[in-house]
Amino acid sequence: MICHIEVYGCQMNVHDGEILSGILKAAGHIVVKNAKIAEAVFVVTCAVREHAETRALGRVTHLAGIPKQKPVMVLCGCVAQEHGEKLLKKIKLLDLVVGPDSYHTIPELLQERRRIAVTDQGSEDYEQVTAVREQFPRSFVTVMRGCNNFCTYCIVPYVRGRERSRPAELILKEVEGLVEAGYGEITLLGQNVNSYTHDSVNFPKLLEMVSTLAGNRCRVRFVTSHPRDLTDELASVMASRDNVCNQFHLPAQSGSDRVLKAMRRGYTRKGYLEKVAMLKKLMPDIVLSTDMIAGFPGETLEEFEDSVSLLKEVRYDYAFLFRYSEREETAALNISPAVPVKERLRRLSILQDLQAKITLEKSKEIIDREMTVLVTGPARRTGQMASRTMGNRLVILESLDFTPGELVPVRIVKADGYTHFGKPLTI
Ligand code: SF4
Repeated sequence: MICHIEVYGCQMNVHDGEILSGILKAAGHIVVKNAKIAEAVFVVTCAVREHAETRALGRVTHLAGIPKQKPVMVLCGCVAQEHGEKLLKKIKLLDLVVGPDSYHTIPELLQERRRIAVTDQGSEDYEQVTAVREQFPRSFVTVMRGCNNFCTYCIVPYVRGRERSRPAELILKEVEGLVEAGYGEITLLGQNVNSYTHDSVNFPKLLEMVSTLAGNRCRVRFVTSHPRDLTDELASVMASRDNVCNQFHLPAQSGSDRVLKAMRRGYTRKGYLEKVAMLKKLMPDIVLSTDMIAGFPGETLEEFEDSVSLLKEVRYDYAFLFRYSEREETAALNISPAVPVKERLRRLSILQDLQAKITLEKSKEIIDREMTVLVTGPARRTGQMASRTMGNRLVILESLDFTPGELVPVRIVKADGYTHFGKPLTI
C-alpha cells in the first residue's frame, strides 16, 4: 500500500512516526509525503490539550478527502489511546484506531481489512523496528516510555502507560549505529527521561555512556525532565561532558506552592529555584526553558502573580506557555473553582508578553559571541541554511555553502528572540 503519515505533538510522537514508517516499510508498504496518492493515511495524534485533540481529529476528515479514492484512515497516537473504540462510532471515516503501544499490529490489521480499535498498553516491542528517520543530522532515541507521576492536569500517564525503561545495551547499540551513520546530534527521549532506570543504570550513568560513545562526532541532548528527579549527579555529568548540550528543559508549571501541591508536582518553588541555581552554577551559559500553565483550577490572582514572578526571577531563554485545559480522567477535573476560560486567556497573554520580552533580551545577550553550530538543513528563506547551537538556538547562515551535519564556527551578528543570524568564521 502507498501510505502517508501525519504527526502532531511532542518529539516522542515525531519519533513514533519514524517507528511507524519503519514498521510499514518492513511489511512492504511505501510511505510517501504526498497525501494525494495515498491508499492509507495515518494521523499520529496528541491529546495533551483539547486544542491539539480537536485539530488532529479535524485533519482526519480533511485528509480522507484528498486522494481520489477514500484511503484507509488510521488514527494513531494519544487520542487513539484515550478514546479507542468510541472514535470508530464517532468518526465513520475512520477504519482503524491504534494506540502508541500497538503499532506493530498495523501490518496485520491492514491485511485483514478489519475496522477495529487496538489500545493494548505497555506491550510495545519496537526493539526489532528500524525507524525511518526524517531529521538528519538530528535523531531521536527513546530511552523510556510512560509516566508514573499523575500530575493532576496531565493525561500522559493514562495514554502512555506506566514507566518502563529500555535496556541500556540496546540504547547504546542504537546510538552507535547513529554515530556510525554520521548523525551529528542525538536527543534522548522520555516523558520523564530523568527517572530512567534499568538494572543498575540510572539516567546520569546512561547519559555518561551515551556521551562516551558519541565522542566528538555527535552532540547529545535529552527531553523531558521532571524537576523532582533532577540531581546534582545529572548536572555534574552534563557540566563535565563537552558533547552534552548546555540546554535544559525544566517544566515549572506554576510559581505558587499551593498550586504546585494541587498539581501534585512534588516540589516547592524554593526547591525548584535551588535546582535552577545548581544548574546555573555548574553551567553559567545553560540555555533554560520551561512549561507554565495559566489558570489552573482554584488559582487565585496572587498565585498567578507567583508564576509571573517566577518567570522574572529565573529569566528563561524560552517558555512554552499554556492555559489550563480540562482532560478526561485527570484529577484536576474535581478541583474547584474553575478559572473562567476568558480569565485563563487573559493570564496566558500576560505570561506570553512578559516571556517574549525576556526571550528577546536573553537572545540579544549572545550578539558578538562566537559559537559552533550544527547545520541542520535549508532555512525557510531561500539562499539561507538553518543551524543549531549547543543551546538549541536557531542560527541562520546567509549562505548555501554548508551541508547538513557540518559543524561551523560562527559569530552571532543579529538576534530577534527565536532566530539568530551567524557569520561563519571560516569563510
Ligand atoms: S511528569 Fe509530565 S508527563 Fe508525567 S504526569 Fe506530570 S506532566 Fe504528565
